[in-house]
This record gives sequence, structure tokens and C-alpha cells, in this order.
Amino acid sequence: MEICVDADALVERITGRFSCARCAAGYHDRFKQPRREGVCDVCGGQEFCRRPDDNEQTVRTRLAEYRRKTEPILPYYNERSLVRRVDGMGSVDEVAAEIDAVLDS
Ligand SMILES: [Zn+2]
Repeated sequence: MEICVDADALVERITGRFSCARCAAGYHDRFKQPRREGVCDVCGGQEFCRRPDDNEQTVRTRLAEYRRKTEPILPYYNERSLVRRVDGMGSVDEVAAEIDAVLDS
């Protein structure tokens, strides 16, 4: 399965992630801010944290590694019609549903 993403959009998604330090509820700078700024919707906590590897350099390095080490095998499987593609740029629910559909088929 190939999950197709736009690199810049992926960087924006990953680098914007943060979570509540108390209950680990997930948020995003742009796509999912807490309803009250600085206060967790779930537990009311006011401390948040970011994963140190959710930074642009790490994401770009991972993408480059994928292109160098993994992407080259795609044509082999493509020629045998064994690659299924999923649009990775939808919402979490949309992408999850597409992946489920491919795995069930
Ligand atoms: Zn919380």
C-alpha cells in the first residue's frame, strides 16, 4: 500500500502537533486548537508538550529516506498490479476508512 502525501502538507501536519502533558489528548496548531486557548478540552490541564522528533528536519529526513530506500521497489510491484494507493491528505477518518477498505479487499 502506498499512502500518497504532499511533503509540505505533511510537514505542516506533523510539526503542528502537540498534546496535553496530563492526559495526552492530541491537538494541532492549525487544525485542532483547544476550545479555550492553553486549556485541554479533555482534562482542563494547562501544560502541553511536543515530541522532539516532530520537527521539520526530522520529517524531511524521513521522507528522503523513504524515497531512497523504499520508493525504488514500487515499480516492481506496480508492474504486477500489487500496489494499492491511498490518498493520505484527507482527514484522519477518511484516510483510516480508505486504508480499511484496501485491507479488507
Ligand atoms: Zn488533558
